[in-house]
Amino acid sequence: MFFTSTRQNLNVTAAQAIAQGISKDGGLFVPSEFPQISREMLEKLVPMSYKERACAVLSTYLNDFTPEEVEYCVNGAYTGTFDNEQPAPLVDLGNGCHMLELWHGPTCAFKDLALQILPFLLTVSAKKTAPDKTIVILVATSGDTGKAALAGFADVPGTKIIVFFPQNGVSPMQKLQMTTQTGNNVAVCAIEGNFDDAQTGVKKIFGDAAMQAFLKEGKMEFSSANSINFGRLAPQIVYYVSAYCDLVRNGKIKMGEPMNVAVPTGNFGNILAALYAKRMGVPINKFVCASNKNNILTDFIKTGVYDRNRPFYTTTSPSMDILISSNLERLLYHLYNEDAEQVAGLMKALSGEGKYSVSAEVLEKLQKEFSAGYCDEEATQATISKLFKEKHYLCDTHTAVAVKVYDEYVKETGDKTPCVIASTASPYKFAADVLPAIDNAEIPADGFALLDKLAAVSDTAVPVPLAELKTKEVLHKTCVEKEDMAKFIREFLG
Ligand SMILES: *Cc1c(COP(=O)(O)O)cnc(C)c1O
Repeated sequence: MFFTSTRQNLNVTAAQAIAQGISKDGGLFVPSEFPQISREMLEKLVPMSYKERACAVLSTYLNDFTPEEVEYCVNGAYTGTFDNEQPAPLVDLGNGCHMLELWHGPTCAFKDLALQILPFLLTVSAKKTAPDKTIVILVATSGDTGKAALAGFADVPGTKIIVFFPQNGVSPMQKLQMTTQTGNNVAVCAIEGNFDDAQTGVKKIFGDAAMQAFLKEGKMEFSSANSINFGRLAPQIVYYVSAYCDLVRNGKIKMGEPMNVAVPTGNFGNILAALYAKRMGVPINKFVCASNKNNILTDFIKTGVYDRNRPFYTTTSPSMDILISSNLERLLYHLYNEDAEQVAGLMKALSGEGKYSVSAEVLEKLQKEFSAGYCDEEATQATISKLFKEKHYLCDTHTAVAVKVYDEYVKETGDKTPCVIASTASPYKFAADVLPAIDNAEIPADGFALLDKLAAVSDTAVPVPLAELKTKEVLHKTCVEKEDMAKFIREFLG
């Protein structure tokens, strides 16, 4: 097995794919074939711990990593960093649905599962491809990804991380999460401007020749932590394999019987990881792709037409407010039988006309495995409320979208297959929109009072990483003009 690009035939190793992040032709790195988990191997995984399962699954893709290197990465990522000995526990709702809780990590959202291990995968990869270089991660963030990346890279040897956020463009809680970040290799800086200014600034710096020369002199190299890196996709495959093993271990299904998977979807990374698990041999029947009011993926899966020429809505499930789902390119590549030329054509149409459509044959293939639906703001609130009343289970706004869409799928199809629903964020992360769904009282203006109120009303506990922000010292106070981002970077890197 090796890695190739979705837009051109290549032959690179896992370390090269991870160190490079994106292919030079603009395509995404994909495995040349899916490593197989045999029935025998699946049976062996059932009694194992999450970390053991992670080592087994990741090893099948990391073709130029030694077993010791894989173990080093997995231990670094998942030892003492999650509030549950199981980083991705399953909670049975009792109606055939099981919540796969992916928010027990340091930032209380599912991106932690990948961003806790990416720094290790990246440094081991870089050691093979560019020895003796320090990796410098640059992030422009509208809130959540910045903190998850900081938490992952803090104090990881061989790395430095610099995060820029818009001074007035993140919530007070998100700001506090970032500005209190400890670690001797981290820098956090506000900019006078909006998220686009931050992102444009970072892109410019990536391509700046003087900055490149400066880095070279200091034996440093820029890299990015964004969600198209295969190093973020691979760890997400693990929790679907693990969820299947838990269903078997808990006696919910027999080995070999299928499960369904429902995912609240934005960039299409999380649900694609579930497809990869199926291609490797995990028995999965249907993938249910759930969107909010930005329902471009629902339309695509129902009609085969992907059209981004439409209004953009800001919703209470902001991590799914996306009109270009980058990871969809990988799905297209597999649906078109690994034909890079076809994919390159579709992507050209997308960047030109903002639109493409797939062939009837590909649409049929897509619909055989994928079902899709969307959920508006009102239904999101109603779902949080209903789930809490009926099951005493508190979920966040993103997860609620998937719960509702899966509910409708079952009503339409009568499908009784046991289902795993990806629960992507702690309800406390979106407390201002969760609290009103379960309680009529006034919403406290102070962020910490809000968390305490939600805890009291729901009889659950505030996650420690959020509660402890109250007493943490603000360490990063710098705010610069957007023209001065490069200067800030140079000063930090020395
Ligand atoms: C990022 C995110 C999503 C969307 O996941 P994709 O992999 O981009 O589809 C859903 N929910 C939450 C809470 C997220 O942070």
